[in-house]
Amino acid sequence: MRVLVVEDEKKTASFIRKALQSEGFAVDVCHNGDEAMSAPSATPYDAIVLDIMLPGRDGLSLVRQWRQSRNATPVLLLSARGSVGERIEGLDAGADDYLPKPFALAELAARVRALTRRGSDNKSPVLRLADLSLDTVTRQAHRAGREIELTTREFRLLEFLLRSAGRLCARTMILEKVWDYDFDPGTNLVDVYIKRLREKIDADFHPKLLHTVRGAGYVMRET
Ligand code: CA
Repeated sequence: MRVLVVEDEKKTASFIRKALQSEGFAVDVCHNGDEAMSAPSATPYDAIVLDIMLPGRDGLSLVRQWRQSRNATPVLLLSARGSVGERIEGLDAGADDYLPKPFALAELAARVRALTRRGSDNKSPVLRLADLSLDTVTRQAHRAGREIELTTREFRLLEFLLRSAGRLCARTMILEKVWDYDFDPGTNLVDVYIKRLREKIDADFHPKLLHTVRGAGYVMRET
């Protein structure tokens, strides 16, 4: 589960990030409305926590534009001004929920959890490539009808690779999206997990789906 936090107050953004990370979410933070504009089309987020008052585009115009471009990612709006008028305007613009500042981090986390549950009902929870399938709700993987047991980290790695199927996934990108590291820990962590995953999803099957792109990273594709 990946959440985008759009909040220009760096301290608040950092508190929200930590609260959501401790709940097991991977979190990206954006401090500017203009930068946030294209983020949901570039990355498939499960929810967005969106402040209304932002430098660049404000939160209300962001959610309006995302909905106009048919992006349905659940949005939780935050605002210091908890007026009824603004709340209605936010929900009319296409936001899914609203939380006035100041708020308790536990409540924010609970609302994000509720939104991600709602979101996963709408989109197909099953990712497929050839005869490999991954149910992102039950976390069950199958290949050629055989169930494959995955650890939590292997599940997150496979989910990320399948959502990016056909596209090159660099090690740094995998570290960022699956481990939430924005630095290279200087280990072969990714390669170790790729090897384990390969033994589970590819070793006994044909065709091979998880390919190494030498010196660059990995890609999942049929041929
Ligand atoms: Ca703000």
